[in-house]
Amino acid sequence: MMTVQASKSVKAIDEIDPDAPIFDPKAFRLNDEQAAIIATARELGQTVFAGRAAVYDREATFPTENYRDLHRAGLLGIAIPRKHGGLGADYQTYAISAAEIGRYCGATALTWNMHVCSTLWSGPLADDLEMDAATRAEHERRRAAHYKRIVDDGAVYSQPFSEGGAAAAGGVAFGTEAKPVKGGWIVNGKKIFASLSGHADYYGVLCTEIAEGKKASRRNTLYLALPAKTDGISVAGDWDPLGMRGTVSRTLLFKEVFVPEDAALMPRGVYFQAAMRWPHMFLTLSPTYIGLAQAAYDFTVRYLRGEVPGTPPVKRRMYPTKQIALAQMQIKLEQIKAIWFQAITEARANPSKEQVLRAYAAQYSAMEGANEIATLAIRTCGGQAMLKSLPLERIYRDSRCGSLMLPWTAELCLDRIGREALYETGESDD
Ligand SMILES: Cc1cc2nc3c(=O)[nH]c(=O)nc-3n(C[C@H](O)[C@H](O)[C@H](O)COP(=O)(O)OP(=O)(O)OC[C@H]3O[C@@H](n4cnc5c(N)ncnc54)[C@H](O)[C@@H]3O)c2cc1C
Repeated sequence: MMTVQASKSVKAIDEIDPDAPIFDPKAFRLNDEQAAIIATARELGQTVFAGRAAVYDREATFPTENYRDLHRAGLLGIAIPRKHGGLGADYQTYAISAAEIGRYCGATALTWNMHVCSTLWSGPLADDLEMDAATRAEHERRRAAHYKRIVDDGAVYSQPFSEGGAAAAGGVAFGTEAKPVKGGWIVNGKKIFASLSGHADYYGVLCTEIAEGKKASRRNTLYLALPAKTDGISVAGDWDPLGMRGTVSRTLLFKEVFVPEDAALMPRGVYFQAAMRWPHMFLTLSPTYIGLAQAAYDFTVRYLRGEVPGTPPVKRRMYPTKQIALAQMQIKLEQIKAIWFQAITEARANPSKEQVLRAYAAQYSAMEGANEIATLAIRTCGGQAMLKSLPLERIYRDSRCGSLMLPWTAELCLDRIGREALYETGESDD
């Protein structure tokens, strides 16, 4: 048994703070405003959400109390411009804040992402896209109403996108249809895995506008905020999954739902433009998993040091095998953090091909890497560490869900990187 340790390294280890920021503001050159917003998210996660996470997971119930706290802390409006009463965070600041929340409650971070995207996509992202002056003015008026509901009333938005077919992967037009009628649309369709079902105040539905006799086209995708209590909307099916249980991602059904024009979160044609020109919009599911990767690592450090609350103070850190495993986890974590930080920092309109490939690689690294680290954590900490009384097994189960998230599943990232690295647009071997 290896028991010798240099006193210098003991002192250095004693200085480790397992709840230190994932991205140290100085080291990663974040400004004071960014650091303050991220610190708010981290402190809420650490002091409040961590203690509630086990119950939401066990009962597969929605973290309603966390959403009240997010509202009180201003975090429901994190990406809402300051002039509308929000915190005015940019993409990078939001992404790091979401990682900090995911570190303490994966389901809260993942559902918060669906909510924040309604403001990020209609806000800073839409500002980068082309619209004529009249359309932009109309969009400004409409989004102000959405923002007011969030900031003043704590309204929560979800983002039902998936339908079980090829649409969510970007292959074909959404099957959920919006038929234009006087003053708005009539929406019919079905969304599967719709996180926040029965809990959001507004469902931010991606659907296809189809006028009578016309064909469905991805170019005509609409992003509409349907008030959850509208006639014709129902929630169906049960929810008892492996992980991310608190997301309550049940099926949503829309039957002849009238939606007024002001429900548009983006003007006509702008979602399609965003999907083409602002691809990092699909990277926003990854922050949660960066948080989970960090959480698995933090747990392992604490556990091997005999410092996990509620467990006997047995140290396991003196075994070389544990030290090597932890070193492998740390290396993996730093690799994931580095590529991911770079990708979220360069998110913008019209990225270069290299930046797009890096975004896929960052998504793949975060989603697969979080689960690899959690797997290694379980093997390293051992049987007692995977009891349901401790968070590690939840982190492990939650982390398994990352690579399933469309449109950038792990498989689709591999598919796109391989193809796009070998072919220029329009090139073929025929
Ligand atoms: C916890 C959780 C929460 C979720 N929350 C939401 C939400 O709020 N909103 C929402 O819209 N969705 C949500 N999803 C759904 C998620 O984004 C996927 O749509 C869902 O997991 C797809 O499941 P599926 O069985 O229909 O996959 P399929 O579409 O059958 O795909 C199975 C696998 O095949 C591969 N594949 C799919 N299409 C292609 C293709 N065209 N080419 C090559 N390979 C392909 C992918 O790798 C995919 O993982 C959530 C999922 C989970 C697990």
